Order: sequence, then structure tokens, then C-alpha cells
Amino acid sequence: MVKVVKFGGSSLASAEQFRKVAEIIHSDESRRYVVPSAPGKRFKEDTKVTDMLYGCYELAVKGKNFEKEFEAIKERYNSIIDELKIDLDLTAEFETVKSCFIGRAGRDYAASRGEYLNGLVLAAYLGYSFVDPAEMIFFKEDGSFDSDRTIKAVGERLMTIERAVVPGFYGSMPNDTIKTFSRGGSDVTGSIVAAGTGADLYENWTDVSGFLICDPRIVENPEPIRTITYKELRELAYMGAGVLHEDAIFPVRKAGIPINIKNTNKPGDPGTFIVESTSQKPLYTITGIAGKKGFSVVNIEKDMMNGELGFGRKVLEQFEKNGISFEHMPSGIDTMSIVVHQSEFGEREQEILSGLHRNVHPDLIDIETDLALIAVVGRGMKSERGTAGRIFSALAHAHVNVKMIDQGSSELNIIIGVSEKDFEKAVRAIYEIFVLQRL
Ligand code: ADP
Ligand code: ASP
Ligand code: MG
Repeated sequence: MVKVVKFGGSSLASAEQFRKVAEIIHSDESRRYVVPSAPGKRFKEDTKVTDMLYGCYELAVKGKNFEKEFEAIKERYNSIIDELKIDLDLTAEFETVKSCFIGRAGRDYAASRGEYLNGLVLAAYLGYSFVDPAEMIFFKEDGSFDSDRTIKAVGERLMTIERAVVPGFYGSMPNDTIKTFSRGGSDVTGSIVAAGTGADLYENWTDVSGFLICDPRIVENPEPIRTITYKELRELAYMGAGVLHEDAIFPVRKAGIPINIKNTNKPGDPGTFIVESTSQKPLYTITGIAGKKGFSVVNIEKDMMNGELGFGRKVLEQFEKNGISFEHMPSGIDTMSIVVHQSEFGEREQEILSGLHRNVHPDLIDIETDLALIAVVGRGMKSERGTAGRIFSALAHAHVNVKMIDQGSSELNIIIGVSEKDFEKAVRAIYEIFVLQRL
């Protein structure tokens, strides 16, 4: 049995957290490959080491003095090393990082040092080998992740090592420079290491007891989800449920490896199992709720648009030409709505509108902004009637005006558009009707 265990930033933010992590690892000898993040926040107002590194590098690029900021980063590591009495001296490593900052080794290089240094500390503390992902996680020339080459290299490299720490978040480009995944990317590294080593389980340790039905910052103490499918999770992760990076499921999914989200501070809690498919009935009609702000919707009206050949294509072409991808496209007989990211759309708005007027001659175009999208996701919705109706009545009850609704053809999710100011209220109302009232 082989388990790959990834620990997030808050799980490794201090010496005390390191102790918990070591206890978890040593309590199960199948936990052979460990992927750490950089030290995260120790308390609410604290700064993640990754953000400290970005800030520090920015000063270096501007040619400003960054001594004070760099000392603060060193202190984060040294306090852990000192408190745990680890036999490790990072002086030479810090000097290398500093000179690479001065030599402008790149923003990604700078950020990656958070995980790199934390990996050195954790490997020394656990007595595990240290393996630098720069030597086995590869990106292609165009910046995309080189899955085939990486999975093979990870397998070959780790096959010969009994126990290893592999820092998260980064890999290397064909020219040997460092590149990171997007923020939260250590989750992706964990998944890659699990796939590459053919692990039986990928445990992702964080600061909550699993994937919760909705964001704990919106609903107080939401219930954890016991079992969720990859598909459901992807919908939720994409719509902003930040527990797991949205790309983290691909490598393990291909290899058929389940993920278990666990809480470092409550290791006894079962957490959430993420699986390909399950016969386990969800406890409620819905599995989870997630949402994001910052959308605009372009409503296009034209009588009989349904009968006009190529109408939809011509509309979408205007967005495509301007490099704007759309999120959703609910439509009626005489109306079509295109939901887009507000920040991207805002920059090309006038070009798109004039393109639409010239090419599809609409009766009316109307734009709504400051929209939030909420995804209500659940494999159980397919077999239940009236889910959309219940959502509507819950929202009406909470005095939330629904601006848009779109049901995916898989019947796995319902997307609801509401005004940004109603976002939190709407999420609470949906949670209440499905979970608290157990409908
Ligand atoms: P880590 O540093 O361990 O990678 P993250 O901060 O990336 O942890 O993810 C965990 C956080 O995700 C939680 O502390 C919580 O605030 C947030 N979160 C947002 N949505 C959810 C959800 N549906 N379930 C659980 N946590 C969520
Ligand atoms: N340390 C990186 C970040 O803050 C990666 C991660 O934590 O997964 O985004
Ligand atoms: Mg994370």
C-alpha cells in the first residue's frame, strides 16, 4: 500500500503544525511520499510565505533594497528549525535564493522557493529523502503541463526511493527555468506524484474536515461531504470551492486513484472521499454549492432568432474574435444570453457590441453587470423531481431575484445567476432548504 500525502500551507505554518504533520506521517507507514506547500498563515492576519516571496521579488526587480523583507522570510523557516531542533542550516540556501533574486531569476522561481525550502526542512525533520520536482515535473515550451513525460519521470525517479519529500507547486521548463502552477498548485503536484508512483490513495491534508457542502466563510459550520465524484468536484472547484485546485483531479483520475481530503488538526475525522463513481447515495438531494462573483451577461433579443440559420454561430464569433470565452449560454425562442467574465469582457465590450450589431442585427442588446453565479451540484438531482423549483422557492422566500438559470445537460448541476449583493444570502437560502430542512 502506498499513500501520497500533501500538506497545505496552514498545515505547515509553524513548528507546532510540523509536529502534527510528522505524527500523522509516522502513524501510517504507507505514507511514503510527502508533498508540502510553503508555510501558510499562522493566524488570520498573517502572510503566507508565497506572498512574502512575491513581494520581496518585486522589490528586487525594481532594484530596491529587500533586506528587511528577506530577513522576515528567513525567520519563518529558522523559527521552525530552531523550535524543532532540526539538524539543518539553510544559510547557503538563503544566499543562493538572494543572489538569484538580484539576478532576476523570475517571479515563478521566487515563489517556488517557498515550497523548495519547506521541503528541505520537512525532509530533514522526517528523515526522508528530498527530491526536487524541477528534475521530474515538466512543462512544455508553450507553458502547458507535460503530463506524459512527467508521469514517466516521476515513476522512474521515485521507484528507487523508499520515502521522499517532493515540494509542491513547481516544475521546470525545457530551458531549465522554474515554472509554477497557478496558486494553490501544490494540490496538482500531489496528484502527479500519486499518479506517477501508482499510489493507492492520495491524501490531501488541509485545515477543514473535508470538502464542505458550501464555503465555511459564507455558511457557519457547513456539513462535510462524505463522498463526492470527480465530476461533481470539478463543477464545484471550477465555481470557486477553493479546497482543492481545479486541475488536481486530472492526474489521479486517469490513474483511478481516489483522493481523501483530511484535516491536519482533526486527523480522526473521516474527511471527504473523491471517487470516480459511487453507489453511495448522497445524504441530501444536492452534494454541494459553490459560486463566484464578477460576471456580466449580454442579453440579445431578436424575433424569430431560432429560425435564422447560423445565428448562434455569428453571435459567438464576435466573442471569439475578441478572445473572450463564455461561461454559459441560456437561450429562449427570441432571446439568447451570453454569460462572460466581467473583467475580460469589459476591455473588449465596445468591439463586441458593434460586431453584434453589424453581424446579427438584433432588436435589442442589454448588458447586466455585477452578477454572481451559483452552482448547485449533485448526482442525486437526476432522480429527484422539482429541484429547480425548490431552489426558486427558497430564493423567492429570501427575497433574492433570480436573473438567470441554466441546467447542465448532465443534470449534475444547476447554475443560477443573481446580483452580487445577493450572493451570500442566496447561498445560505439554498443550503438551508436542502440541508437544514433535509429536503
Ligand atoms: P491548503 O492551504 O491546505 O491548501 P486552502 O486554503 O487552499 O488550504 O483550502 C482550504 C480552505 O478552503 C478552507 O480553509 C476554506 O476556508 C476554503 N473553502 C472554500 N470552499 C470550501 C468548501 N466547500 N469546503 C471546504 N473548504 C472550503
Ligand atoms: N504556496 C502556493 C500558494 O500559496 C501553492 C500552494 O499552497 O498550493 O499558492
Ligand atoms: Mg490549497
